[in-house]
Amino acid sequence: MLYSRSLTLVSVAALALTATACSSGSSDSSASGDETIKIVASTPIWADVANVVAESTDADVEVSSVITDPSVDPHHFEPTAANIAQANEADMVVVGGGGYDAWLYETVKEQDKVVTALPLIEHGTLDEHMNDEGLKVTIIDGNEHIWYDVEAINVVAEEIADAINAKDPEAGASADGLEEKTKGFADRIAALPAKKYAQTEPIADYLLAPSDSWTDNTPEKYRAATLDEGEPAAADLARFLGVIKNGDIDVLIYNPQTETDMTTRIHDAAEAAGIPVVEIGETPVDGENFFDYYESVVSALESNAK
Ligand SMILES: [Zn+2]
Repeated sequence: MLYSRSLTLVSVAALALTATACSSGSSDSSASGDETIKIVASTPIWADVANVVAESTDADVEVSSVITDPSVDPHHFEPTAANIAQANEADMVVVGGGGYDAWLYETVKEQDKVVTALPLIEHGTLDEHMNDEGLKVTIIDGNEHIWYDVEAINVVAEEIADAINAKDPEAGASADGLEEKTKGFADRIAALPAKKYAQTEPIADYLLAPSDSWTDNTPEKYRAATLDEGEPAAADLARFLGVIKNGDIDVLIYNPQTETDMTTRIHDAAEAAGIPVVEIGETPVDGENFFDYYESVVSALESNAK
């Protein structure tokens, strides 16, 4: 078990060697390398999910993320040849799916080693797959931001645990600790008092799904454009500013990683109107652990929803 997504592959390998040397008395690097289960995730978030499972076992599990820079927007990521090699050499590749991180899973030769929440499809076609058979999660409005869905986190973690245990029957890897954590988040969202909100990008659909009382008042055409990763029209911006001006929202949900001139104007208008702004990023904005970040987002929603 190794826990840190910031370790380089070299230092993780060195640690794995040390651990094996301690337990077996062997310093044969090739032997210890063969025992390590390598997991490569598309984003730091899926790496953090894998790391929680890795923590549950004494087996040597090495987790790394292809995206390491928290300022990078995964929507527009282009992997290097080294990233693609990293994924193909791994035992397991963990992704969100739904087209979001197709840049990684489309490059993986052995597709059966890909663990995913959403179907592995092309970008922008998720709304065509909402009624597919065998879906592991409920897809909201063709939205790819599935990692804020507590059930998706649980499903992916369980599949990672199963795959580790299949490779090493002694591993005893489990996702139990995680399910407690995600249930805690969902319960707190469900308990939020009723509020109206709008989003600069539909980042919070899954996060707010446990709530029956939060209403998304994002103007429809603005939302449709951002769901398709398009740029809303000037008229959509005007409608959004109207919603703020008319007091039709209590909270603005703002994604700082997909900032544009338009979202900056919306952000500034909300601030000028005294409407609280809750930031929710594609990935943890300061590179912090996903579960700490999720916790801070839930706390921010609670403190702005009194
Ligand atoms: Zn996004």
